[in-house]
Amino acid sequence: MKGQMGGLAVAALLALLAMCGCGDNSIADRGSGDAKKPWEEFSGANALAHVQALVDLGPRPPASEAIEKSRAYIIAKLQEFGWTVAKQEFADETPRGKVSFVNLVARFSKSSTAKPAEFLLCSHYDTKTFDDARFVGANDGGSSTGALVEMARVLSLYPQLAARVELAFFDGEEAYDNFTETDGLYGSRYYAKQLAQQKRPGRMRGILWDMIGDRSLTITLPPDSPPELARGIFAAADALKVRSHFTYFDRDILDDHSPLSEAGVECIDLIDFDYPPWHTAEDTIDKLSAESLQTVGAVTAYYLSEIALK
Ligand SMILES: [Zn+2]
Repeated sequence: MKGQMGGLAVAALLALLAMCGCGDNSIADRGSGDAKKPWEEFSGANALAHVQALVDLGPRPPASEAIEKSRAYIIAKLQEFGWTVAKQEFADETPRGKVSFVNLVARFSKSSTAKPAEFLLCSHYDTKTFDDARFVGANDGGSSTGALVEMARVLSLYPQLAARVELAFFDGEEAYDNFTETDGLYGSRYYAKQLAQQKRPGRMRGILWDMIGDRSLTITLPPDSPPELARGIFAAADALKVRSHFTYFDRDILDDHSPLSEAGVECIDLIDFDYPPWHTAEDTIDKLSAESLQTVGAVTAYYLSEIALK
């Protein structure tokens, strides 16, 4: 009789727990058990569809109507996937006078934590200003942004992983003339400055994506990439049997990871600089493939869940 009562009490307690859904384990990540792994969830086709939507808006230079529309697109998608998006609005002097820029910075809402993120995933979403060409930046500006929107969806399926990540979409990566201390990297320089002022505790690592959609994919890591991150990316690529798409570039690359590194973020630039249509009107969506986007997305997801944030 005593035993039976105990059994009933346990059953009642279990039922109550099931009803209220309390306890840390009630919202289990999709990553546990037989569920799909994050790198299996990442869809290159979804990423390419986002790139198409951005390219359809036409050239998207800073402070243009088209970049405002691309912002609205990115924000709507991120919110749909459960992310809270903040706008970092600022103005900076450029060779063309004062220009307004807007970075988008997102955290996963359900994490509802004031804890700073440990890992930054970022991309620039502006396209280079050309007076004499219709430049839609399918690969340069489009590919990494579309893939990052898809990554937001993937991470949302793994709330515990998503809670540790910050997404940043930088405006004004492109220089008006040439990259100098004061031309180009406007958004990442501003973000890095904010980060330095916040004096965040602990270590922050990051991955920058730039031009990751070329059909003929060769990710050319800058030679000064943080060694630990490079090793992790190569290990992830090995595990997914796509190691041949990853190598080192023979020269330094100045990109959005540079101001971040200076601000103390250990950041690696996954960039394919072996891209003939770079900064020409030929940088169009037909040069991209869903498979390439999937390769970089899956390697990044694997690296995050199995190596960096395991
Ligand atoms: Zn560019």
